[in-house]
Parts: sequence; structure tokens; C-alpha cells
Amino acid sequence: MVSRVIPVQPFDLVIFGATGDLARRKILPGLYRRMVAGQMPTGARIIGAARSSLTTKAFREMVREALDTFVGTSEIDEEIAAAFLTALDYVAIDATGEGGWAELGKKLDKGDNAVRAFYLSVGPSLFGPIAERLQSTGIATSTSRIVVEKPLGHDLESAKALNAQLAESFDERQIYRIDHYLGKETVQNLMAVRFANSLFEPLWNARHVDHVQITVSEDIGVGGRGGYYDKSGAMRDMVQNHLMQLLCLTAMEPPAQFDADRVRDEKLKVIRSLEPVDPDDTVRGQYRAGPDGPSYKEDAENPDSRTESYVALKACISNWRWTGTPFYLRTGKRLRARMSEIAVVFKEPPHSIFPKLPPHQTNALIIRLQPNEGITLRMTIKEPGPGGMRLADVPLDMSFAEALGPSAEAMPDAYERLIMDVIRGDQTLFMRGDEVEAAWAWADKILDDWEEERDIPRPYDAGGSGPEDALRLMHRDGRRWREIEG
Ligand code: NAP
Repeated sequence: MVSRVIPVQPFDLVIFGATGDLARRKILPGLYRRMVAGQMPTGARIIGAARSSLTTKAFREMVREALDTFVGTSEIDEEIAAAFLTALDYVAIDATGEGGWAELGKKLDKGDNAVRAFYLSVGPSLFGPIAERLQSTGIATSTSRIVVEKPLGHDLESAKALNAQLAESFDERQIYRIDHYLGKETVQNLMAVRFANSLFEPLWNARHVDHVQITVSEDIGVGGRGGYYDKSGAMRDMVQNHLMQLLCLTAMEPPAQFDADRVRDEKLKVIRSLEPVDPDDTVRGQYRAGPDGPSYKEDAENPDSRTESYVALKACISNWRWTGTPFYLRTGKRLRARMSEIAVVFKEPPHSIFPKLPPHQTNALIIRLQPNEGITLRMTIKEPGPGGMRLADVPLDMSFAEALGPSAEAMPDAYERLIMDVIRGDQTLFMRGDEVEAAWAWADKILDDWEEERDIPRPYDAGGSGPEDALRLMHRDGRRWREIEG
């Protein structure tokens, strides 16, 4: 199977925070890879902006270093890299000052057809000042796009304030809120599997689905960014955004069409149908020191920290499709392996004609985001060979690497895909303001309950599968978590 590259219109992309970690690690290497794939049109320009006073030459050298580090020297095509660097420009701007904006304005294409996009790869306190200056200087046009990324607020109130600041200068149809999980191939495949096949839809409801498990586990700790993380925690950093988006895509009704507003309307309905979570249905944890590293408190440099590096919770959706089917979410740092997956676990057959056989697994559809992106259907079959009827659980595997061959390797990563969607003007895989606010309203109640109860995170072993209480959360419902394995 050959993946098709659909060229995009010529564009000017201004990256605010172009000297920062996100720009060097993800955005610029991603744009380079799109050029390798042949998706960058002639005339596309990328303009870096930050406070550092750099010449364009020095900026290009910095980007070249970033490509060597994050794409890999051996993977770089020198001719394409040279063309890529030529497309780069730089302007020194302090987002909160008045200098540099006129120079930026002069650098932008004045043609009517060129797409103009502004990627705000800076802290959220700068979103408002940048949006306001882009508008007041006339640099932003009515068709320009602005891209922002998490943290999109710290709670409902701050998220509303951010949305209001952006809305003063840009229409909602111009605002692209990135959740890079939505750019992942398998996440989109979840929608394809659900809505382009007739097989699953009749089963996709509380009559047939026992429960859903969504796991995003990381094997690394918060070392290096412990100070930032300690103000946030797993609930704000992961659950309110990434896990919530995965829950929405799993649970939503089929949209009437695959377009931005219809998809986002359906996701919003899911969030609004979530019941408030009972504090007894949540577990918070903090990793202990292990052979591979210090404890969470040491990483956070805060011996009194009550911030969670792990969350598990049971979420219930009150609607016709899902009442009675819990969605268990868990995410944490310093766990056994790096693994993200959605497991839709089906109910047992209503009557077993093999009563003497030991219990076996029920059917499950597993959508794996990382590693080894792919979809697996767990089935029970007869164990091959003589010796009577013995049952075995086997996976029906669709590994993208195998099914798609070399084109799977050429698949754009989430950032590449999402940036190209911005240029194309397709908001389907971006969060709308009301979605973000609804997700915060749900998360705030949980955060408030923890605060009120002065909840202390349970310690858990580094390299394990999380606190004991998280296992109990499942056991008391007669269920168990799937193994965390890379
Ligand atoms: P970073 O490494 O600290 O970079 C911040 C960038 O902003 C630098 O280029 C900095 O350059 C520029 N900057 C700071 N103050 C500025 C100002 N007043 N005017 C203009 N430019 C200014 O941060 P980052 O890790 O790249 O993250 C950027 C944003 O993305 C943050 O909000 C972060 O939470 C979010 N994010 C990051 C990641 C990631 O993987 N890194 C992932 C998801 C979300 P100068 O100092 O030269 O001005």
C-alpha cells in the first residue's frame, strides 16, 4: 500500500518560540520531514520568532543542529536539508514588547493566496499578548490561523480566560488547539474502524461492551521538568486533555459527516454526558525511588509535594449508548513500560457450552497508540491439535508496520500531520474552545474533591504498574487492568 502525499498551498508559518524545546524537537524536524515527503510547496516559508537576538544565518545553524539531533544525521538528505534551511527566516520579537512586529510584517507574503499561520510554541501567558499584537499590527488577516497547545488553562476559569483572550483577536474557525494525540495514526484509525465498517457498530454499546480501559503509561519520570510538572500533575497534564480525547473518540456517536464541527459536536456531547466522578472512584499515586532513579518528590524538588504522578479513575457516561459500561482511565510516570492503548472489552457470551473449561479472556478490541501502533482483536479459538476441546485466546493482529509495509514508516508523526492540517484549514483533529472548557469543568470537580479531602497520593514502585489501590479499583468491580507492557 502506498501512502499518498497531498500537497498543500504555499504558506508562511511563523513559529513564536522557535528557539525552544518544542520547536527544535518536534515542529521544525516535522516540517523538514514533510519537505522530504514532497508535501512542502515551493514558496513555503518558515519564520522563527523569539526574544534571542539571532541572525537568520545563526537561526538556520541552530535548526540544522536540531535536525541532526532529532531527525538523525544519517537520515538527512543534504540537498533537501539545504532547501529547507533556505526556507527559514528569523525575527527577534519580545511577545510582550512593541519591537520586531513591523519587521515581521515586512517578511510576510502579501499575495492573496498564501496561507498565513502563527504557531505559538510559547507559554500560555504569551498567547493573549501575541494574538493582540498580531491583530493590532495588521499582521493577522481574516484568513490567518493561530495554533496553540497545552497547557490550555489550569482549570475552567483560566481556560475560559485564555479562550476569551484568543477570541478578542481571532474567530473560532481560525484557532487550532493542538492535542497531539489526535494526530496519531491509530487514533484516526479508531474512527475509521468504527465508522467505515459495519462490523463493530452494532456491538459498540453497553449491551455488548463490558468496559473500556484507556492507558497512557510512561517509563520515564519527571526529572528535568519536575518544577513545572509539580504545579500541574497527571490529572491536568494528561487526563483532562489526552485521555479525555481518547475517551471521546471511543464513546462518541457517529457524526453525520466527517467534518470539523460535526465531529467536535459529538465529542462535546460525550464530555457533557460524563457523570461527576465519585472521589472513591479515583486513585492518585507518586512513584518511589527505584534502582533507575530518584522518587517523584526528589525529581520535583519538593519533599512535601502532594502532586500526583499517577491517576486511575472510573468514568461513567450517562447516555443511551453507554449507561452501565464504565470507562477506566489510568496514566502515570515511571511505570513498567511506555505504552498507550484503548481496550474495548466485550461481555462474555450469554451462555457457555464449554462449562468444564477454565475461564478464558473475553473478546477485546485493542487500539494501540504506542509502541507498535496497530489494532488487535482478541478471540477465543480451539487450541489446535487432538486432545479434545481446549480453548485458547489468540490475537487477530493488524500491525500497521506489517500491513502497510514501507509506507507505514513514512507515516507522518502527529505534529507533522497536524501542522499540514492547519495549512489545509482542516480543524477536525483540533479541539474547539467549548470542548476544552467542558473537559475542565469535569476535571475541576475531581481536583476540587482531592483538595478538599487533602488527598495524599499513594506511593508506588518505580518500574511497576501503579499503586495497589488502582488494582483494587478494578478488582472490586470484578475486573482487572491489562498488563502494562512495551
Ligand atoms: P521552552 O523550551 O522554554 O521555549 C520557550 C520559547 O519561547 C523559546 O524559544 C523562548 O525564546 C521563547 N520566548 C519566551 N519568552 C518569550 C517572549 N516574551 N517573547 C518571545 N518569545 C519568548 O518551552 P517549550 O518546551 O518549547 O514549550 C513551549 C510551549 O509548548 C509551552 O507552553 C509548553 O508547555 C508547551 N508544550 C511543550 C512541549 C514539549 O515537548 N516541549 C509539549 C507540549 C506542549 P527566547 O528566550 O529567545 O525568547
